[in-house]
Amino acid sequence: MKVRTTDDSLSIYEGRHLSSKVVAIPKDTTIDLGASEEADGREWIEVAVDGGSKGYVLGPAARGHTTLAGAGQVPRSASAVLSKGDTICPPKKDARGWVFRDEDSARSTISRWQSLLPKQKSSYGPSGKVTSIGVLKLLTRGMVAGSIFTFLYALVCTLALGYLFAFMLRLGAFASLIYVVAVFAVGFVFVGPGLLAAMGVGGVSRWAKNRNALAAGLVAAASSIVGWFVFCRWSLPSISRTLLDARPPMPQGATGETYSNFIFLDGFLRMLPVAVIVFVFFAYRHAAQMVRDAKFCEECGEYMGARRLGSLSLKQALDLIAAAKEGRLAQFSLYNETDFTPAELTAFKCDTCSAGYLEISVNFRAAYRNERSWRVGISAKKWLGFSAATACDLSRLYNREGHPDQSPSSEGAAT
Ligand SMILES: [Zn+2]
Repeated sequence: MKVRTTDDSLSIYEGRHLSSKVVAIPKDTTIDLGASEEADGREWIEVAVDGGSKGYVLGPAARGHTTLAGAGQVPRSASAVLSKGDTICPPKKDARGWVFRDEDSARSTISRWQSLLPKQKSSYGPSGKVTSIGVLKLLTRGMVAGSIFTFLYALVCTLALGYLFAFMLRLGAFASLIYVVAVFAVGFVFVGPGLLAAMGVGGVSRWAKNRNALAAGLVAAASSIVGWFVFCRWSLPSISRTLLDARPPMPQGATGETYSNFIFLDGFLRMLPVAVIVFVFFAYRHAAQMVRDAKFCEECGEYMGARRLGSLSLKQALDLIAAAKEGRLAQFSLYNETDFTPAELTAFKCDTCSAGYLEISVNFRAAYRNERSWRVGISAKKWLGFSAATACDLSRLYNREGHPDQSPSSEGAAT
């Protein structure tokens, strides 16, 4: 891309290192910026000056001393030039995720992955079958498990959060700190009971070999209502009294802020009975999803075992998908990669017959340094990139050379 220099301090290097020969070019020279590449931890951009001479400029210098950093077209078009370097110099992984040098390269890499490996629906769908004994198990043990889980969760969370509120009021804590706890409280109260009910029902559903997502969802929703009703009817009144007694007396000359702190505990306790309308939805959705996720072999009447086969780069993921589509999966083998591998390959196989599924999920957590505020930004994206039924022998995929997951102990993910 062609840009003009805005002052006379842009230096062109002969090679991609600081010790190479340098030429300074005058203001208002038109230069053509090419691909960028990282060398010795610095970003270098290829440059051609009108009149023929070629070389490299430092990325920050190119942005600081040319119209590249001017108004209008700037950040996007600059990123288009600079992001070319990503394939040459892959991001490194650390605890924050994959670390990119800036937000634009993180975003352009994510969108590249999303366009080449777009989100798929799982090719497994539960059959909807459930035996009458299974229905009975769901309605009895499932209901009991879901209700007890919800009840215990509500009890523990209310006591813990309620005493935390009271304790902070005693400390004379700032309103903002109370807001933080309140935000967590809202999350726990409005989502948690639903997830706990779904977990209780999900366990029974699997034991009863239930493949009906609707049945599991409805039982989870109903059990969360039952557990919550029991909690609000018989436990909440006495808990509320205890908590409100634990609250310190309102100080003399209370300001608006202390007053708002005081009504939080009341508000939290009053909000509890209302939370039910939200978490019933989470109970339903989560329990139904658990049935959809647990792949079942209808031929043999048993659940398939899941086995993580390791992480993949974009190239290996695309190669594998091509092999699957062309029926070459049994001959396909994986090689180890240490570079940029946010994709996970998982195989689901029936222990008795050859039925199975192969899935690639992408878990893209990107970190980058935000140039303006000098902070580390995080953006996380997760999606299913590939899902296909396969009856192939996948043993070649299992025996990836030297991969850490190769040990036989990793086989146990099936239960
Ligand atoms: Zn089978």
